[in-house]
Amino acid sequence: MDKILPYYKETKNEVEIFENCYKEKLPFLLKGPTGTGKSRFVDYMAAKLDKPFYTVLCHEETSATDLIGRYIIKGSETVWLDGPMSLAIKEGAILYLDEIAEARPDIIVAIHSLTDHRRTLFVDKTGETVKAPDSFMLVASYNPGYQKGFKELKPSTRQRFVAFEFMYPNAETERDIIENETNCDSEIAKKLVKVAEKIRNLTELGLTESVSTRLLVDCAKLINVGMNPRLAAECAITAPLTDEEDTRDALNDLISMIL
Ligand code: ADP
Repeated sequence: MDKILPYYKETKNEVEIFENCYKEKLPFLLKGPTGTGKSRFVDYMAAKLDKPFYTVLCHEETSATDLIGRYIIKGSETVWLDGPMSLAIKEGAILYLDEIAEARPDIIVAIHSLTDHRRTLFVDKTGETVKAPDSFMLVASYNPGYQKGFKELKPSTRQRFVAFEFMYPNAETERDIIENETNCDSEIAKKLVKVAEKIRNLTELGLTESVSTRLLVDCAKLINVGMNPRLAAECAITAPLTDEEDTRDALNDLISMIL
């Protein structure tokens, strides 16, 4: 029986690129704003390639020890506990480091030898060097932050990966995604895509990030359960996008012209 894959709508040729990186044992970097399908894509690819898959959501406290492993005290013994990076290497899995730029610099040091021809991980606490099997793949995502305020990934780190840029999808693709994710009326999906198009073009609003497909999907879900479309858009689109009163009013005005 064919396995059921998570729903993922390809936006360009990212599936082929990922498959070729996997074949060639190259690490893969997914760049792009939040809510553009990066995590869903990795989930889909892991299922498509039938591979075990570990995700680590990196934040400013995430250190190399969290990824590699640590000694813990168990009763009267000290035992070694593998972190997700060590486990993924041992199992020949996909390791997905989500928001890698947020992690502490020692993670970048730790992945250095994993991302080149050596494909090894040095475990400083045990003094071991672990070789990744051919089936191991490192995938990372980061949000380049088109506006200031986001953490950057150093060019020397970026250049260790093959990269693909996730953008907001074109109107037809985005409509398909909304309809597939929510089973909403196609007229609603069409209008939500229109709202998104208008908001994305309003660069003068100075939004840190514009409306993502995720927000449109959330909005369609609320409309689906009977919520007034304008109210749904105010809380699923406007409120997550801004804290500024003027911007909020401008967005709500725009929404009420379409929905
Ligand atoms: P990211 O990791 O880029 O922040 P996610 O992968 O979590 O974004 O996507 C957020 C949501 O947007 C998903 O749960 C899904 O509903 C929807 N989505 C966005 N792009 C796609 C796509 N290409 N195919 C399927 N769903 C998508």
